Amino acid sequence: MATDGPVLDVVTESLVELYERLGALDDGAVADYIPQLALADPDTFGLSLVSMDGHRYQAGDAEMPFTVQSVSKPFVYALVLSEFGLEEVTRWVGTEPSGEGYNAISLEPDTGRPDNAMINAGAIATTALVPGATCEERFERILDCLSRFAGRGLDVDEAVHRSEAETGDRNRALAYLMSSAGALPGAPSVVDTYFRQCAVRVTTGDLAVMAATLANGGVNPVTGETVVSETVACQVLAVMASCGMYDASGAWLLRVGLPAKSGVSGGLIAVSPARFGVAVHSPPLDASGTPVRGVAALRELSERFGLHMMRHPTRSAPTVTEADRGVRQGLVAAQGALDFTAAERLLHGLSDVTPQDGGWVVLDLLDVTTMDTSGATMVATALARLEEEGHRVAVVVEPRATAGAALTPWRRFPSREEAVDWCENGSAGVGGTGRT
Ligand code: GLN
Repeated sequence: MATDGPVLDVVTESLVELYERLGALDDGAVADYIPQLALADPDTFGLSLVSMDGHRYQAGDAEMPFTVQSVSKPFVYALVLSEFGLEEVTRWVGTEPSGEGYNAISLEPDTGRPDNAMINAGAIATTALVPGATCEERFERILDCLSRFAGRGLDVDEAVHRSEAETGDRNRALAYLMSSAGALPGAPSVVDTYFRQCAVRVTTGDLAVMAATLANGGVNPVTGETVVSETVACQVLAVMASCGMYDASGAWLLRVGLPAKSGVSGGLIAVSPARFGVAVHSPPLDASGTPVRGVAALRELSERFGLHMMRHPTRSAPTVTEADRGVRQGLVAAQGALDFTAAERLLHGLSDVTPQDGGWVVLDLLDVTTMDTSGATMVATALARLEEEGHRVAVVVEPRATAGAALTPWRRFPSREEAVDWCENGSAGVGGTGRT
């Protein structure tokens, strides 16, 4: 089961409990429009979860291989977004939910542009955007990308590929329709590359790592490799949230509240940003092509662990750990990660301690772990304002901390004593690069 000690393994216990209980659900039907998929055992049921520390948890048949099918779509979308950027990709593939099934002719009436990259039409256009001089080269790029997301070399189930190539007229028709409207960035034969992409073999464990990589801002939490940028991971998750579950996306967002993607072989991934990636595999599908046991499992997990992304987030610790106000001086110490919310708190702390006229303000950031762009901008703007108003400003920060880099315009000191000393006596201090 999990690689963690079994005694404290509440996560595995939850997955095992879901496996045992939801395994009894026998609604839905195994997809049979790709003949080879119809051979899948409807009782197969695997669950896997991967945390941001790369811890892996699983239950049931999580090691059993199956073809990735439509769960490949967000990852190939990530590939082309990394290559060309959102503006260029959006010229070819829209970003609106279609409100229709995965294989519908959801093309804009005037342009022929497919509604989004999660439906077949959009995914075929996405695959056509993948760079490569030949089909082989293009497919190698796709396989390499999916493998990096999974953290291991993946391969193709040739029998499933053949089976879909022999029967995939509807997808071929979609490709020709787009091509006739000038909306396909390649030849209609690209549909075969799309079939190969759908036939890439994965396990439930692989899908959980792939989902966790999106949850982790594009960095694979198991291998440590940066597969795509944080921006691209965020863009992909946004489209998954609005379009990943086809015409069931609204109900899914309401009830489960996590970006997700399903596939006809029974795979389903869901992403809890900055927390984990989760995957379920169970072949029987409901009317919208979603694995029945997968939906049930995700609904329960989301509720049990409070994962709905619209939930009010809890803050674990206060940002301001010390706030001292004197007649001529003020001091604020902060801790943790400085994002927008934490910075907003910090600014309140700073206004509370700032002396009426002149004097000095020391901001101690030694216990601040990270500062994102919005946090850094807010703090920098506030410090500039204090200086304009005639206060002496000093920042205490580890000389090599990344948090300090955003605050280079201000006098920086490695210890509070040196900062206070400089404020009171104007002495040089150590490590200062200040303006005064
Ligand atoms: N290969 C399948 C198709 O194109 C993928 C569809 C899916 O998984 N929803 O029809």
